[in-house]
Amino acid sequence: MRRRSHWGWGHEDAVLSAEQARAAAPGIAEHLRMAVADVEEPVALADVRLPAPRVAPPPGLAAICSSDAHARASHAWGRSYSDVVRGFHGRFDFPPDVVARPRDERDVEAVLTWAAGAGVAVVPYGGGTSVAGGVQCEIPARLNGAVSLDLGALDRVLEVDAVSRAARIQAGAAGPVLEEQLAAQGLTMRFYPQSFEFSTLGGWIATRAGGHFATVETHVDDLVESVRALTPSGAWESRRLPGSGAGVSPDRMLLGSEGILGVITEAWVKVRPRPRARSSAGVRFTEFDRGAEALRAIAQSGLRP
Ligand SMILES: Cc1cc2nc3c(=O)[nH]c(=O)nc-3n(C[C@H](O)[C@H](O)[C@H](O)COP(=O)(O)OP(=O)(O)OC[C@H]3O[C@@H](n4cnc5c(N)ncnc54)[C@H](O)[C@@H]3O)c2cc1C
Repeated sequence: MRRRSHWGWGHEDAVLSAEQARAAAPGIAEHLRMAVADVEEPVALADVRLPAPRVAPPPGLAAICSSDAHARASHAWGRSYSDVVRGFHGRFDFPPDVVARPRDERDVEAVLTWAAGAGVAVVPYGGGTSVAGGVQCEIPARLNGAVSLDLGALDRVLEVDAVSRAARIQAGAAGPVLEEQLAAQGLTMRFYPQSFEFSTLGGWIATRAGGHFATVETHVDDLVESVRALTPSGAWESRRLPGSGAGVSPDRMLLGSEGILGVITEAWVKVRPRPRARSSAGVRFTEFDRGAEALRAIAQSGLRP
């Protein structure tokens, strides 16, 4: 199975080799107008020093848990520029003690039950593309350790309501696998953040992500119909209604919650038929402002490119 890089974006087998980086360096240096003395190489995983794990999972959870160096290092940071630079230099300040990979909701519940009893923090982990420190396991001293709860295996489209154009999807589904399953039914969620390759439905909801590669409904808030989450004190689920004006919107509790209120396990989201035709054109503007004005005019014209 392909492994993600323990420090940077993408998979280990897609990281540039030292020779490739050296060959690319002069062009990059010229383009960015900066002097490059030599190409630095990332600290290899074998040379990374992590503190010993403070806690171990109970035997009943051993099958879905790992405390090996790759699991702990690759779940230690998000993927902001500073995260990547620290990981590149082999610096992992808050590695999780355990990485748990639940196969279903029952596993999520079992991890939460153990962690609550053992005084261990649980940090939900979707695609790990956070740029706001959301996945790092920096915990208060009163806690005994931290588990990174990787939802990646919960990646199925569970149900499609073709009449109302909605789908019930597991929270760990990353952009490509989610769209691939919807495409098999001629549908799309049409939500394209720049981190689409690795970020997940649960992460989009927990961070109130925006899909900047589309127009009109570009905020995940616009697409969520209901959310289901597990918390240490039980399941939480909002009702899927065509519309509601009753009181405070319950979905807002989870939208933007950054994992602090519960583990989102699935959600109903709006979907639409995939486009049947596609056409694109490039237009060159002499000045940046004129290009921005043209984009605004198109966006405000009622066209939905
Ligand atoms: C190169 C790059 C491009 C990006 N482009 C965009 C963009 O276009 N638009 C945008 O909005 N953001 C963007 N981001 C930021 C990031 O991708 C988004 O915040 C994204 O929604 C995070 O999703 P994730 O699955 O990777 O979540 P993670 O990074 O794994 O987690 C983010 C937060 O959500 C919580 N969380 C994750 N899953 C769950 C769950 N199932 N239940 C409860 N809490 C959960 C985590 O604990 C954490 O607090 C980009 C980041 C990078 C590095």
